[in-house]
Amino acid sequence: MTVKNFDIAIIGGGVIGLALARALQDSAGSVAVIDAAQDIPPASFAAAGMLSPSFEIAERGAAMAEQLYRFGAYSLSLWADYARGLEDETGLSVDYRADGTLGVAQSNEELDAWKEQADRVSSMGGNVSIISGDECRALEPALSPNIVGAMLAPSDAQVDPRRLTDALSKTLWGDQVTARITEITKCGDAYRLVTSDGTEYGAGRVVIAGGAISGLVSREMVFPVKGEATALHFAEGTVKRVIRSDGAYLCPKAGGRMVIGASETRGRDDFEIDAAAITALKKNAAALVPALTDSRELERWSGLRPGTPDGAPILGRDESGCFLALGHYRNGILHTPAATEAMAALILGIEPAAELKAALAAFGPARLAAR
Ligand SMILES: Cc1cc2nc3c(=O)[nH]c(=O)nc-3n(C[C@H](O)[C@H](O)[C@H](O)COP(=O)(O)OP(=O)(O)OC[C@H]3O[C@@H](n4cnc5c(N)ncnc54)[C@H](O)[C@@H]3O)c2cc1C
Repeated sequence: MTVKNFDIAIIGGGVIGLALARALQDSAGSVAVIDAAQDIPPASFAAAGMLSPSFEIAERGAAMAEQLYRFGAYSLSLWADYARGLEDETGLSVDYRADGTLGVAQSNEELDAWKEQADRVSSMGGNVSIISGDECRALEPALSPNIVGAMLAPSDAQVDPRRLTDALSKTLWGDQVTARITEITKCGDAYRLVTSDGTEYGAGRVVIAGGAISGLVSREMVFPVKGEATALHFAEGTVKRVIRSDGAYLCPKAGGRMVIGASETRGRDDFEIDAAAITALKKNAAALVPALTDSRELERWSGLRPGTPDGAPILGRDESGCFLALGHYRNGILHTPAATEAMAALILGIEPAAELKAALAAFGPARLAAR
């Protein structure tokens, strides 16, 4: 039997695997993406596409919080050019919008929490401010009169992850194989990959970018955090910014689609959609923007975020020499440009940008293996 060989096999065709294949294909020989497709639906399809580093630091330990924030902020700074480059290359829109985010409060206690968050972000050099309820409504007239204030992150952006996935796929000229890898074995300097139907591939180098439930890394390192979300029809332009609160976030997308998310449940790796979770999201969203109360539902879905014990991604190499690009939890879309740049530098053996050196040192897999 002849075994097909690739210079680099990337396991996982979510945004991280696809973006990495695009970054490597000019200079690394034959680059293949092997993806399980509907056998393991990608989190990238389920994501809302918020690019919001200032809102993603609350629950980490202090040292990792700062590292994670800096990595996210650096990636956000790459996004405008990244989106433009992708759109120019493919002729496809990724619906990139840089209108900012409002983290709104419906009580003084919630506003105090946003103030604390704003202090932390500002102390790390972030551009956020606290504004009053009236200032919120001046920016977003559709907001409820019950909003008492907000943290405004004017530099935040968003993108449509499904359009992003389509655009990234279109840039690839190497093999895109639909198969689930169940076994990776090191053979001398190369690797043998076996799929669930027994097909074999060979690869000089392997990158595991398989998301939350690949079966290729331990559940102690990467585990699923299930999220449900919905999209309602809403007149385009009525809400411009991403609106976030404790109970729901709202992301206005092209075509009058308001994405509302998301539940968060650990320890579940199924894709069932809990009707009660969707009802709660809609109710919480309507409390922020009352005009959503009677909006028609367009779609509901679920996905599995790739969680890690400290909430930070895994970027590096394991003891068998496989490259790991995993565990982006709630921020894989935000992280795509920076994670791609960092991993491409590591794989090609070139010096990463100064901003990424610290990230590669902090996000290596050894930190989790050592726990
Ligand atoms: C409801 C929800 C909302 C989110 N919102 C945001 C957001 O607003 N902003 C943000 O930045 N992030 C968000 N995220 C997180 C984001 O979706 C993920 O961090 C990101 O998509 C991870 O991308 P990935 O490429 O690593 O994994 P995935 O997108 O999960 O892709 C992994 C791919 O690997 C394939 N695969 C897995 N195992 C194998 C195998 N053994 N063999 C072959 N192929 C395999 C799968 O089929 C899949 O296609 C959200 C996630 C969810 C669920």
